[in-house]
Formats: sequence, structure tokens, C-alpha cells
Amino acid sequence: MSSIKNVPFFEYPRLWSDDRENLLKIIDNVSSTGGFIMQKALIEFESKLSDYTKSNFSVGVGNATDAMEIFLEAIGINNNDEIIISSHTMLATASAIKVNGGVPVPVDIGDDNLISAESIEDSITERTIGIMPTQLNGRTCDMERINKIASKNNLFVVEDAAQALGSKFKGRHAGTFGLASCISFFPAKVLGCLGDAGAVLTQDEDLYRRIYQIHDHGRDINGEVKRWGRNSRLDNLQAAILSSKLVNYEDVVNRRREIAQMYQERLEDLEQLKLPPAPNSDPNHFDVYQNYELEAENRDQLKDFLSQNGIGTLIQWGGMAVHQFTNLGFDVSLPKTENFFKKCIMIPMNIFINNSDVDYICEKIVSFYKNNV
Ligand SMILES: *Cc1c(COP(=O)(O)O)cnc(C)c1O
Repeated sequence: MSSIKNVPFFEYPRLWSDDRENLLKIIDNVSSTGGFIMQKALIEFESKLSDYTKSNFSVGVGNATDAMEIFLEAIGINNNDEIIISSHTMLATASAIKVNGGVPVPVDIGDDNLISAESIEDSITERTIGIMPTQLNGRTCDMERINKIASKNNLFVVEDAAQALGSKFKGRHAGTFGLASCISFFPAKVLGCLGDAGAVLTQDEDLYRRIYQIHDHGRDINGEVKRWGRNSRLDNLQAAILSSKLVNYEDVVNRRREIAQMYQERLEDLEQLKLPPAPNSDPNHFDVYQNYELEAENRDQLKDFLSQNGIGTLIQWGGMAVHQFTNLGFDVSLPKTENFFKKCIMIPMNIFINNSDVDYICEKIVSFYKNNV
């Protein structure tokens, strides 16, 4: 009998231990100058982020949830204005709309598990003011199609790109298709820091000014109070850490794509699974594989079996699509999404796993279906 390996879903301590010397140096450098808040390290990171994504403007904020709340506040929502979202997203996408007085309208997913263009069109009402697609699992939606629907119906588009830094559709970066977008630097995100952090990207200078003011007590760059605001700033220690990690970001993305390709080759013959799109399966999409989320027959048994074999898995959003939180007042049935949530599971996808971990995971999945079905 082969021995049991330990392959956690995500090893948080390694964010520190794999890079300890460098991180200590960064913390020492930033702290020695006393530049903790809105100083050089942050300005540098914001500019690197804009360069990398080819975005006109970026503003570091406390986290991606704040980012969405802030850009929606800057755009302005009237009471009961509706914004269409995918039901397969983090609850934060919906709550950002809610706290601004709007109504989040969750709709069904399409074949690639991202928001379905047909469902968007079917859900537009007189109250709809915008569409906020989630660039889920590191894949960017067909934004050409979504932007076409939006302009036809006079709606704005904003993106929840929390999971999609570096992901592209037709060569253009996630987060740069609409009025504004959010990126998350939560530790387990592809570009993760040692705590909470996020950013807003926007292409519009006027909107940028309002977003900037809202994130810093309503003050503009010169410190003059222009409006009501709040405090949601990206702190400089995290910014310096993120700048350092952005240097090798392409390598990280390529490694994740390599793992996705290995999963594809080793698992594609199992008819009990539906895998996410493979890295080079569609020239319009460049995916960064924030997650490797698949649909599996006997999902719960598979999850137990993998756990008994030392393999960590996770069911996204605790196993609930947004519209399934009925305590929040949602009352809609979305068959494709509901079906998906009965089968979905995420297997390890990060730079801490090596090729033999991937082999081991695939071997166990194959043996589960050989012996159980
Ligand atoms: C992580 C995530 C968020 C929230 O990001 P925070 O930085 O933790 O606020 C929002 N939406 C999606 C799709 C996410 O994956």
C-alpha cells in the first residue's frame, strides 16, 4: 500500500516561511522610514499595478470588499436601483450593492461557470442600472458580449476582479473592461499579502478622483475635504510586500497554468468529472487559475476520500450560491447554479504544491472512481 501524503488545500504559514528573509528586509526598510500610511511604498505599488494591468488609475484600499463598496458609492446608486451579478460569487459582491442602497440581482451561470449573458439579458428591468460580473477562478468573462448588452440597455459595467489579477480576455486585463473594478490581495489570492488588502482599478479620471476621496475621509490628493468619506487605505508594509511579489508574478501565474494543464491531462478521461477550461483551450481567454474548481459525481464522498488520504479540498463560498442565502431575502431559482453547487469542489491549486503532489492527487481521484462506481 502506498503511503499517505499530506497535501493541504493551502498552506498559509508558507507565505511567510518560503520568503522570510526578504519579507523581514521589506518590513525593516519600510518601518525604518516611518512611512506606514500613504507613503512611497504605496504610491510605488499603485503605479506598478496600473502598469501591469494597463489600467489608467489604481487606488490601494483595505480589501476588495471595500473596493467594491467605494466604487459603487463613487458611481452613485439610488434606492432600489438593480445591479445584476452572478450568483456564483462571494457574498461581498452582493453586499457591496446592498450597503449602497441598491438591489443585487443574482443570475444563473453559463457553461464556463461564469455569469451567463443570456441570464443577464433575461434579468434586465426598468430598475437595472448596471452589470457587475465576477471574473471567477481567475477567468475573465466574455466582456465583449457583456459590454454590448450593457451599452444596448444603457447600463454601466463594473467588475469583481478580486480573483483575476493577470487574467485576460482577448489580450485585455480583467479589471479594465468597465468603469471600475476590484482586486483582492487576501493571502490566498494569486497575489496575496500578509493580511487584508485590495485595490480599485478605474479608467476614468473623474471617477478616480471620487474613489480616491472616499477612501481617505473625503480628502483629495492635496488634503482638501471634498465630500464625505471613510478610511480604507492599503497600508505601506503590505504595499511593499505586494510590490516585491509582483516582480515574479508571471512565474506564479505560469506555474498555476502548468498545474492546471497537469490536472487536465491526468483527469480528462474521467467521465464523472467536469473540469474547468484547460489553459490553452480558447485563445480568447488567458486564465490565472485562482482556483481549480471542478464538478464531480459523488462529490461529498470524493471529498471525504481525499481527506482520508491527506488531500485538502474546499467547496467555494461554503457551498452556497448568493441566491441560496434566503435569510437575506433572495427568492429566486437558478437551476444551473443550484446544480453546479451540488457537485462543485476545488482541489489544491497554488505554488506550494509540487508535481508529485499533483500526481498523488490525480492518482487518488482516479482510484476513487475506479473503486466506487
Ligand atoms: C476574495 C473575494 C472577494 C473579497 O475580497 P476581500 O479582499 O477579502 O474583501 C470578493 N469577491 C470575490 C470573487 C473574491 O474571491
